[in-house]
Amino acid sequence: MANIIRLIDVTNRDGVQTSRLGLAKLEKTILNIMLNEMGIFQSEFGFPTSQHEINYLNANLELVKLGVLKPIRLNGWIRAIPADVELAFKMVPGLKHLNISASTSKQLIDNKYFGKRTKEDVIRDMVAAVKRAKELGAESVGVNAEDASRTDLDFLAEFAGKGKEAGADRFRYCDTLGYDDPFSIYERIKEIAKTIKIDIELHCHNDLGMVVACSLAGAKGAIDSGVDAYINTTVNGMGERAGNADLVSVVLSVLKSSGFAGKYQLDPRVNLSKSWQIAKYASYAFNVPIPINQVGVGSNAFAHESGIHADGALKDRKNYELFDYEELGRGEPEIIETGRMITIGEYGGIKGFRNVYEKMEIEFKDEEEAKKILDLVRYANVHTQKPLTEKELRFVAAYPDIARRIMTVTP
Ligand SMILES: [Zn+2]
Repeated sequence: MANIIRLIDVTNRDGVQTSRLGLAKLEKTILNIMLNEMGIFQSEFGFPTSQHEINYLNANLELVKLGVLKPIRLNGWIRAIPADVELAFKMVPGLKHLNISASTSKQLIDNKYFGKRTKEDVIRDMVAAVKRAKELGAESVGVNAEDASRTDLDFLAEFAGKGKEAGADRFRYCDTLGYDDPFSIYERIKEIAKTIKIDIELHCHNDLGMVVACSLAGAKGAIDSGVDAYINTTVNGMGERAGNADLVSVVLSVLKSSGFAGKYQLDPRVNLSKSWQIAKYASYAFNVPIPINQVGVGSNAFAHESGIHADGALKDRKNYELFDYEELGRGEPEIIETGRMITIGEYGGIKGFRNVYEKMEIEFKDEEEAKKILDLVRYANVHTQKPLTEKELRFVAAYPDIARRIMTVTP
C-alpha cells in the first residue's frame, strides 16, 4: 500500500457556483474549519479573481497563519491563463496553492472557445500559467482538464505531461459531465498515470448516478499505476447539476467496501467521526435538507422497521448494518429547546446576547468588549440571514477582527 488516497473538497468552489446554491462567506469559513477538523487534505476555498471573494480569501489565509486552519491546504481556482495567475496573486498575495483549469475536449474547444483557441493555445497558456504561478510563490499547482472524459486520451496525456514539465504537481481529470463509468475511468486514468507518472485528482459529477464509483475507480487506476490519487468531494454532494462526489460516501466507500478496505489506503488523517456534524452544518448553511436515505448521515441510514430486519439488527447490529453509527459521530443526544428560547440576530440587544453567550460559557472581559462582539454578531446575521449556529457565534467571539474582514464586501 505505497500510494495513498487524499481528499480535496471543492464545496466552497463547485458547491457554491451551482444554480440556486450559495453560502455566505462566514459559512464558507466555518466549512473550511470543519474540513480541517475532519482531516481533509485540501479545501478549494474559492475564486481569487472574483472581487467579492477577496476579503474572505485573504482572511482565511490569515487563519492559516494563526494556526486555526492547519494543516489543511487552501487552494484557489482560476482559468489556466497567465493573466488569471497575475490577477490572483495581486488580489490574494498569500496564496500558496492553485488549481488552474482549461477545456480540453474537442466539443468545448470548438464550441465554447469557438475556434478562437486551438489545442496548441490551450497547452501554451497552461504551461505559461503554471510557470508564472510557481514564480509568484505557488507551492503546489494542479492542472485541470475540463471535460477530460470526452477528451482524446493522447491529448490528455500531452496536457498532463506538458503540465508536469512546467512544474505542475497534479493533474485533475474532470469528468465534467459525468460521462465516465467506473470501468472507462479506471482504464483511462491507469493509462495516463502509467505514461506521465503524475499524481492524479479525480473530479467527477453525478449526471448518471455513478459519481462515487467513478471517483474510486479512478483513484484505483492512479494507484495501480504507482501514483497518488486525490478525490474531489463536496459535503452532501452539493455541486453543479446532479452534484459531485459526496464527502461522507467517498470516505465510507474507501474505508468499508470489499474491494478497497485494507487494500487501498485513505489519508490516515481523515476522521470519519466528524461526518455527522459537517453534513448537518452544510445542510443548514445551504438550506438543503439531507435526504432520509443519504449515505451514512440520512435519518434512515440506521433505521429498521420490517420484522426480519429489526429483529436481526437487535440481535446483532452486524446482521443489517455495515458500519456503526458511532463511527460517524452519530448517537449523541441533541438538546432541543421546547420552552423559552432567546436568540440573537440583527435586531438583538445586549441582554439577550449575554444570555446566549453565557449558555456557551463564553465571558467577555468588559461591557465594551461585549458590545463590540454584539455589533459583529448583528452584522453576521445580516450576512447569513438565518439564526447563527453555536460554531458561528464562537468564531465571531474568538476572531472578531477576522470575522469583520470576512463579512466585508465593497461593491
Ligand atoms: Zn465540477
